[in-house]
Amino acid sequence: MTLSLTVHRGTQQIGGSCIEIRHPEGSRLILDAGRPLDAPEGASGLLPDSLDRGGSATVLISHPHQDHWGLLGEIPSDWPVWTGAGSAKLISITADVTRRPLNREMRTWDSRSGPFAVGPFTVTPYLTDHSAFDAYMLLVEGAGKRLLYTGDFRRHGRKSVLVDRLMANSPRDIDALLIEGTNLGTNKPVKREEDLETDFVGLFQRTKGRVFVAWSGQNIDRTVTIYRAAKRTGRTLVIDLYTADVLDRIASETGLPHAGFPNFKVVVTSGLKNYYVKNGREDFVTRMAKDGVSASALVNGPYVIMLRRTLLRDFESKGVVPDANDAFNFSMWRGYLSDAHHANPLEWCRKGGAEIAYIHTSGHAAPTDLRAFAAAIKPKLVVPVHGMKWDEESAGFGDVRRLGDGQTLVLP
Ligand SMILES: [Zn+2]
Ligand SMILES: [Zn+2]
Repeated sequence: MTLSLTVHRGTQQIGGSCIEIRHPEGSRLILDAGRPLDAPEGASGLLPDSLDRGGSATVLISHPHQDHWGLLGEIPSDWPVWTGAGSAKLISITADVTRRPLNREMRTWDSRSGPFAVGPFTVTPYLTDHSAFDAYMLLVEGAGKRLLYTGDFRRHGRKSVLVDRLMANSPRDIDALLIEGTNLGTNKPVKREEDLETDFVGLFQRTKGRVFVAWSGQNIDRTVTIYRAAKRTGRTLVIDLYTADVLDRIASETGLPHAGFPNFKVVVTSGLKNYYVKNGREDFVTRMAKDGVSASALVNGPYVIMLRRTLLRDFESKGVVPDANDAFNFSMWRGYLSDAHHANPLEWCRKGGAEIAYIHTSGHAAPTDLRAFAAAIKPKLVVPVHGMKWDEESAGFGDVRRLGDGQTLVLP
């Protein structure tokens, strides 16, 4: 009798991840309960049918991207949920702003805590490198078997050393490696985050006016990259209240940039201010305003200004409008530009005559790094997840066991 493994969703797609590991005694672990990326706004009933909600199970969330936790609200309320301490904070911020409050306690592991027991399983979280903050790989041991789940990862971000270290000193005798394959079969730019910093320095130096930048407030690596480039060029980085909230909740233990740092300001705009006041967070706004700027101060000056659609109206009403001296950089996956939410800020800057730049790198590992990772772990079996091109691109990964969604593999 041994462990069995079911990928409920993710064998043929990116996102919506949900993986079950069953112990011969009947205990179950669910790795991630992700919302499919193409799920319509407001849709519910999205958990895979093959996931049995009778009986109990424990859920482990690898990192705070919605395609890995966004269906937690549909998980039976008596199933315990575990995640990293930083992840738990970011998940609750997103649940609040998307108005889908979680209404459940999350148990948290510490990145230095080492292995812990969940029923008959032993779980070891490994902090890893990804565009999400506080992302983990998970080693699961039980019934004499060892399974490593990569979650989402990369090897070119600010924490790439964590992946290098795991590869150099990898857990032995892995029976199955569940590995993501987002970037297989794509030509997405994969540059080191440090090299992006140099590119931003170049953009900031050659631009006479302000530089508007659109990026995800939860992509902490990118916030650090842009902040460092701003400092190196004598500019001040201006972030919005939402991104300030993210940093405020996680920065205390980490030394990440936050309100009060040099060359760093929070812009207090009426839309976001009203949102926080309405949610009983007036004290937070007051605290941020102490080291903040008003939108009207951004009419000109050596600023790098975070931009998102919800800020446009507040900026315009204060006379903050891009012109030919300014530049705009989109620092997210290009595919998002098909959505007005992301396209509008770019169009707003283009209309004003600003230079349009694209400095970005993927949050996921390059194909060569995926293969190198599998080679370093030397698992008996490789089970592909979180990818669209596994059928064409599985060469170089060792003994690949291709599953369909909902199909169960009993570990040999
Ligand atoms: Zn993902
Ligand atoms: Zn992710």
